[in-house]
Amino acid sequence: MVTSYHSTRNKTIQASARQAVLKGIAADGGLFVHPGLGQEKADLDRILHQSYQENAAYILGLLLPDYTEEELTQAIQAAYTGSFASEAVTPVKPVGDLQVLELFHGPTSAFKDVALTMLPQLMSIALKDTGDSAMILTATSGDTGKAALSGFKNVDRTGIAVFYPEGKVSQIQYRQMATQQGENVRVFAVQGNFDDAQSAVKRLFLDQELNDWAASKSIRLSSANSINVGRLVPQVVYYFEAWKQLMQQGVIGRQDQLSFSVPTGNFGDVLAGYYAYRLGLPVKKFVVASNANNVLTEFIRTGVYDRNRAFIKTISPSMDILISSNLERLLYYMTEGDTKQVKTWMDQLAAEGRYQVTPEILEKIQSLFVAEYAGDDETRAEISRVYKEDAYVLDPHSAIGYLAGGRQKGEEPMVVLATASPYKFAQDVMEAITGDTMAEWDALHALENICQDPVPAPLAALESADILHDAVVDVPGMKEAVKDSCALTGRGTR
Ligand SMILES: *Cc1c(COP(=O)(O)O)cnc(C)c1O
Repeated sequence: MVTSYHSTRNKTIQASARQAVLKGIAADGGLFVHPGLGQEKADLDRILHQSYQENAAYILGLLLPDYTEEELTQAIQAAYTGSFASEAVTPVKPVGDLQVLELFHGPTSAFKDVALTMLPQLMSIALKDTGDSAMILTATSGDTGKAALSGFKNVDRTGIAVFYPEGKVSQIQYRQMATQQGENVRVFAVQGNFDDAQSAVKRLFLDQELNDWAASKSIRLSSANSINVGRLVPQVVYYFEAWKQLMQQGVIGRQDQLSFSVPTGNFGDVLAGYYAYRLGLPVKKFVVASNANNVLTEFIRTGVYDRNRAFIKTISPSMDILISSNLERLLYYMTEGDTKQVKTWMDQLAAEGRYQVTPEILEKIQSLFVAEYAGDDETRAEISRVYKEDAYVLDPHSAIGYLAGGRQKGEEPMVVLATASPYKFAQDVMEAITGDTMAEWDALHALENICQDPVPAPLAALESADILHDAVVDVPGMKEAVKDSCALTGRGTR
């Protein structure tokens, strides 16, 4: 076993990459990191001449040293064959002065598909070592649940149960989940709000009776959360892909640098960019783009991380986050692996909701990262402006990235990560463009009339798809629902 990973908070808590994928989080609450990150650089000339899939196998091989090349190649084929509606997987398109990297051509029209198609494959391989099955429990406010369902559908040795707050997701999100096919999937509406569902799932992970019961059936409870290293590393690939495509298009030369603007919530996506930088991608800077929940903007500008503030519900809900968990990994690398220091800050965050990094660390962060944020009104105005000036429709998350990227644009090309299809947020997008509020399906059809691309096929099919999941549970009933769902873990065929 190669114990290539250890906890951000303690170097003696070690794991192989395979174990890190199965565990998700280290036993002390830290995140798994690879101390040798970037010691071996990626060969850019090789990347230039390979397909997305070949580059994925190459990059993942550098980051997950104990998966074999053959395992990775098979996993990548299973994840990406036929699942993305673009041959380039993640195409780059010029829009106004900036370049837009479209990450939303996967099965659920959000960027999380890039990772949530891969993670189940990586888990399935690691489970073979143990002979166990995994039951994935996910609480969702809408998007993650669907991407996880789609990724784990029929994957060997896994089952998945998703809990969403009853009546509190959009019509499109509801239909995306309630119509989910697959032999090993269950979807439950929870009587309560998202926090109720999320807290209950966290309690179930710690429930000894439930864990013992599952273990007696060789089942582990697991999560598809974005702190899992198996979700992080597939995202590193598209940063190299953006560079490759811009090289091929003649936008940049071999000596040139790029900057990236990344709509951010849990800091996973932008951290993947930092991993690419450590592997040798020529990056000038990363723009960390936030909505009104601008904890990260303040942190990058002042060095103070303070979550003691009101939670604001915005039109970019996937970025409504006050604890950006993956930032812990950046702190680890910025302190050159000072796990004691990272632990001190994380303990302060848990106890007081606040910590402050030293001026030296702040300076180091600021040499590569800048931060911007936008409120809902600015976001709507940007959607409308970019549509009118450049005939391109951005979703609210991507619009924040575009606005932030425009503010920070220097000489080098600025690549904006577009994290969701505008169709997923059709109501808010149409309201931004026309000023009118429409019913959700009406907005979807109206948007199709002004977009260059048709409604993605999986979204278009929702209007007439059969509802397969109509179970409603109260919070105390979730445990029984999980036990029922565990029966599904043997049914995967993929
Ligand atoms: C999850 C999500 C984000 C934020 O990504 P992080 O990796 O959490 O920073 C941004 N946009 C969309 C559409 C998302 O679903």
